[in-house]
Amino acid sequence: MAFSSGLVGGAFSSLLKWCLRVEQSGLRILGLSPWSPGPALAVQGPISCPFPDVHSDDKDSAPGFMDSIFWMAAPKNRRTIEVNRCRRRNPNKLIEEKTNVDVCPECGHLKLKHVLCGYCYEKVQQETHLIRKEIKAKEGGPFRAPTKETVVLYDGEKARSEDEEKRVIERSRKRPLWFAY
Ligand SMILES: [Zn+2]
Repeated sequence: MAFSSGLVGGAFSSLLKWCLRVEQSGLRILGLSPWSPGPALAVQGPISCPFPDVHSDDKDSAPGFMDSIFWMAAPKNRRTIEVNRCRRRNPNKLIEEKTNVDVCPECGHLKLKHVLCGYCYEKVQQETHLIRKEIKAKEGGPFRAPTKETVVLYDGEKARSEDEEKRVIERSRKRPLWFAY
């Protein structure tokens, strides 16, 4: 029994030796030395990355200041001012020139050709607000308005014959130029 176990043990150890030899020869073919530290995968990332704790025996030593730095790609060469200016002043990056700007015929402010003048629109809004206030004071609420057409009369104006049946709102000021009768 002891003989047979010794035989098996010897065969196993010789098999192990053979495996090691094959592995070392394979590493030598690949250009790697079996027992010296060869090229290894190096990973750079934030501290929060779950790195395997390789230096568990270095836990007692204080962490170096390089450990807390998050390394990022940095330019290797300085870009000249000509290159920078060509990039910054590229026609694709510049704001497009507007050719549809016009002068408002009423107030003289600049405005886009296809939109209402903002200044004039604000004047209209204010006047409309005052007309609404007048209506509210006269009729006491929005739900008491008669179902009639409305005419707004300014100072020194009288209702025309065709407007006599319409609802008349009077404003105590001169008629604005832009508000046609
Ligand atoms: Zn205007």
